Amino acid sequence: YAAKERGEPYCWYVPEMDRRAGEEARIGAELRTALDTGQLRLAYQPIVELPLGRLVAVEALVRWEHPERGLISPAAFIPVAERNGMIVELGAWVLREACGQAARWRAELGDAAPQRISVNVSARQLTRPGLAAVVAGALADSGLPASCLTIEVTETAVFEGGRAVEALHELQRLGVRIALDDFGTGHSSLTLLQTVPAQVLKVDKSFIDEVTMRGRQAVICTALIQVADGLGMTAVAEGVETAEQAAELYRLGYRLAQGYWFGRPAADLPVVRDLQRADSR
Ligand code: C2E
Ligand code: MG
Ligand code: MG
Ligand code: MG
Repeated sequence: YAAKERGEPYCWYVPEMDRRAGEEARIGAELRTALDTGQLRLAYQPIVELPLGRLVAVEALVRWEHPERGLISPAAFIPVAERNGMIVELGAWVLREACGQAARWRAELGDAAPQRISVNVSARQLTRPGLAAVVAGALADSGLPASCLTIEVTETAVFEGGRAVEALHELQRLGVRIALDDFGTGHSSLTLLQTVPAQVLKVDKSFIDEVTMRGRQAVICTALIQVADGLGMTAVAEGVETAEQAAELYRLGYRLAQGYWFGRPAADLPVVRDLQRADSR
C-alpha cells in the first residue's frame, strides 16, 4: 500500500512478495524435516597461528545436505530459521554437535587436537533466556572443558537488546570465551568494546581483502590490532585468501588467522596448509 500511496503500480509487487513468502515458508517446513531427519552437518574451518599456520582452533559452520537440492549454505537458511524461531533448536543442535566433536578430537588426538572450537550464535538465541543453560548442557554431556569453547556473536546481534549483554555475562561466568564476529561491519563496533565481555575480535574479511594494497584497509587493520592488543583481546583476521595477505597481517601484528588460504571448511578435522613446507619448496 506504500507503493499505492506513491501512485506506483503496486499490484506488480504483490506476486513477488507472495513468491518470497511462499519460498520462506517452504524453506521453513523443509528445515523442520532437516532437523528431524538429520540432514544438517557441521563443517570445520581451521583457525591458525601465524606465521607458520599451526592449527589452534576450528570454527564450526552448519551445512544442510538437502536430498534434492544438494548442499545449502547457511546464508540461505540461517536467516529463515532466525525469523521463524527454529534457530533456537537448530542452534542447540549445533552446540551439542560441535562440543561432542571437539571432545572426541581431544580424546583421539590429545595434544594434536585443536585447542578450541568456535560456535556461531545468532541474535535470537542470545536474546532468548536459556542460552547459558543450553551451553552448560552441551559442555556437561560432551565433557568438553568450558575453556575450549568460544561463542561467536556479531555486533548486530549484541546490539539487538538489553538481554544480549546479560546473556554474554552468563556465558562468561561458565568460562567460555566470547568472540565478536565480522567485527567492524556492524553499527556499534567501538561502543561494544566498552560494554561487552569479549576476549576475541574477529576482523571482518572486508578489511582483509585489500590489506596488501597499503591503503585504507591496511590502516584499519593496523588500528584494529592495536585496539585488540591494548584491550588485552585476541585478534583473528578472517577471510585470508593469499600468502601475501597472511604475510602482511603478520607484519602488522596479527598472530591468528582464518581463511581459504589455510583451509576451507571441511567435514572432518581440517587439513592445514603447512607453510613451513610450502616456503621451502
Ligand atoms: P561467519 O561466522 O563469519 O563464518 C565465516 C564464513 O566465511 C563462512 O561462510 C566461511 O566458509 C567463509 N570463509 C572463510 N574463509 C573464507 C575465505 O578465505 N574467503 C571467503 N570468500 N569466505 C571465507 P559460511 O560457512 O557460508 O557461513 C556464513 C555465515 O553463516 C557465518 O559467517 C555465520 O554468520 C553463519 N553461520 C554458519 N554456521 C552457523 C551456525 O551454526 N549458527 C549460526 N547462528 N550462524 C551460522
Ligand atoms: Mg563466525
Ligand atoms: Mg565472521
Ligand atoms: Mg560472516
